[in-house]
Order: sequence, then C-alpha cells, then structure tokens
Amino acid sequence: MRMDKTMAKRILPGGVIGVLGGGQLGRMLALAGRAMGYRFVTLDPTPDSPCGQVSDTQITAHYGDEQAARELAKLADVITYEFENVNAGVAAVLERESYVPQGSELLRTTQHRLREKRAVEAAGVPVAPYRETRTITELREALAEFGVPCVLKTATGGYDGKGQFVIRGKDQAAEAFTALGSGEVELIVEQFIDFERELSVVAARSPGGEIRTFPPAVNVHVNGILHTSTAAPDHIPDEIAGRAREMASRIAEHLGVVGLIAVEMFLKRDGTLYVNELAPRPHNSGHYTMDACNISQFEQHLRAVCGLPMPEPKLLTPVVMVNVLGQHMEPLLRWIEEDGERGLPDGTNVKLHLYGKAESKKDRKMGHVNILTDDIEKAHEWIASSGIWMESGGNRK
Ligand code: AMP
Repeated sequence: MRMDKTMAKRILPGGVIGVLGGGQLGRMLALAGRAMGYRFVTLDPTPDSPCGQVSDTQITAHYGDEQAARELAKLADVITYEFENVNAGVAAVLERESYVPQGSELLRTTQHRLREKRAVEAAGVPVAPYRETRTITELREALAEFGVPCVLKTATGGYDGKGQFVIRGKDQAAEAFTALGSGEVELIVEQFIDFERELSVVAARSPGGEIRTFPPAVNVHVNGILHTSTAAPDHIPDEIAGRAREMASRIAEHLGVVGLIAVEMFLKRDGTLYVNELAPRPHNSGHYTMDACNISQFEQHLRAVCGLPMPEPKLLTPVVMVNVLGQHMEPLLRWIEEDGERGLPDGTNVKLHLYGKAESKKDRKMGHVNILTDDIEKAHEWIASSGIWMESGGNRK
C-alpha cells in the first residue's frame, strides 16, 4: 500500500523507533535519533549488535522470526529497516501490527534487479542496457547484441560486487553462466559501462510527498566494495549534479518512497548518467553527511518516517569519506595510538566512526572516517600514502 498524507502519523521525540536489523546503519540511525530524544528497540540475531549496543532494547532473534517481529511491533511506535532483504512474512506482520511508513512494496522492488530496473525506467530515468537471461542461448544473444565487456548479475542476493561476473570475451559465456548457478537463479546481463565516475545521490521523501536530496557523492570502489566517497562543491559540474539530484527525486516520487532512497549512478565521459542500483535505506556513500552537512542522512530518514519537517541539505565543507574494513583496523588504531595527526594536510579534521563489531574480518565494514578538508586532492593522497589503506591504493576501478 502506498502511503498518503492522510495515513501519515507524527511520531514525536520520546516515541519508540523499532529497527529491523542491528548493523551499522541501524546503529547510526539510533545514535542520531537518541540525540533527538527517541527511544530505540532493535531486532537482530547477533547479541550485542552494533545497533543493540546503542538501543534501549534488543530482541535477539532471526530476521525471519514472525514471533519476534510481533514483539518488535508491540514495543515500537514506528518501525524502519536497515537492509532490504526483509522476509515477506515478517514485513506483513509488521505492517499489520505496527506502523511502517516505508511500506513493503519498495522492498519487493529493490530486492530484485529486474523489477528495480523496470521501475527506474518507468520513472523515465535511464539504466544501463540490460537483458533478462534465463538460458545460455539468451546470454549469447545478449553478448552478440551488446558486445563485450558485459556484466552478468544474479537478480537477487548480490551485494558489494558479489553475484557478478564480468564477461570480457564471448568465449567466457559458459564459464560465467555456470559460475552464477547455470540459470537456477534468475540472471540479468548488462552492458559494461565505461564510466568516468560513479556517483550516488541520497534522497528523502516525506509521507506528504516533499523530497530533499543530498549533494551527490563521487564514489571509488575497490574489489567491488566502496572505498571512498567524496563531496565537494566543484568536484562535479553543477549541471551534472543537478541532473543526478533530479533523477533521484523522480525515482523517489515515482516509487512513492517514504524515508531514504540511495541511487547509485554511472557518469559517462559524454555526460550521460545511468542508474545502476537503488537502496531503500541509509547508504554507505551517504556517511559523509554525518560530519559535512547541516543534517545527516540518518536524521533526515528519521524525520521522514516520523513525519517531522525535513531541512534542505547543505554541504558545509568538502569531505572525503573512507571506509575502514577489517584489514584496515590494526594500522588505523596504530596510527591513532602513535599520534593520530601524522601526515595530514594542515587544517584537516578526521572524524572517526567505528561500529562496535566484535570481530574484525577481512572486507567486513568496521567503520569509516570522514576527512573534512579544503584540499580533497591532498586528502586522497594522504589516504593512498598513510599505510592504513595499503591494499586499496593501486587497484581502483
Ligand atoms: P552493483 O552491485 O551492481 O552495485 O555493482 C558493484 C560495482 O560493480 C559497481 O559499483 C561498479 O563499480 C561495478 N559495475 C556493476 N555493473 C557495472 C556495469 N554495467 N558497468 C560497469 N561497471 C559495473
């Protein structure tokens, strides 16, 4: 069901916000909401989860546990989620027994790449040329049409570059098809976009239909995982930034979003923008807003789902966000211990955000830092030379 003004409730500070999922996105939502006076209850299978640590209550249960979802519904005045793979049964329980302004339709759309691409196209926004691919013959036909390289992707379940195969020669069709399950899972193949940059825009929409967009971030991925996001006034031409924000607004409007939607895009050298992916929640590429904007993506999301006014986001300083993965923790802590300022350009502020995860594993997102600086080139040079992000230095896509 699509939310309209008449169904919207205003949840005032003091109210209880339920968060389905106890990871870092939930944690940062709860930190922002607690500052505003909200109380939090989270549901997550891991005891002492990142969000549980900063919530009033954690219900420790699997995301698919309908009884636990009922308990969450009982305790919370409003429910939000921090990931999109919410089980349909649980979504139905929550919608029936509590107030879920984001609804579940958007989840259904963004859980599936084909549905998502069709929805973006229906909003009048371009996506990279793609084909649904059920058989090896269909894959070969698509390769003949698009040429190589192409990217074969699973329609569901992929994240951080998983569930993808870049096909660089037509002779790799069978290998790619087998690697992604031989058609047992739905697949799509899309043209490989020789992008100049990857951008993302986080948009927020209220139940009443107001839309606010954050300034676009320029993103660098390493091995399929976001490495840095940069936002600065002159970093991309105003016309392109305006177009990217307009595309995100159109998608938010068309899909009837309530809360946040993050829109990842490819920018080609000729200025063409294609949408790559949507996420109906706070997004890693929006973490820069926590220290560099007048309002963070997390507060904006809470304002949207609680029916409070949403300010127009403004960038207050240029910023580079860099992710801290498991392998970066030890050198980062050493750098902090040694002096924590070594090598930084003058006038730079480094804001540390760690997520309280017990175990540090390779490629696990443990935290991020926001580098506030007037010289983003120097900030990038420092990231490459500090020794903290060693294996991320050369291998840029
Ligand atoms: P995704 O999971 O679709 O967001 O893909 C993860 C990353 O793989 C993207 O951020 C891009 O860096 C790269 N990628 C995915 N699809 C394409 C494509 N069609 N053309 C070029 N690069 C792609």
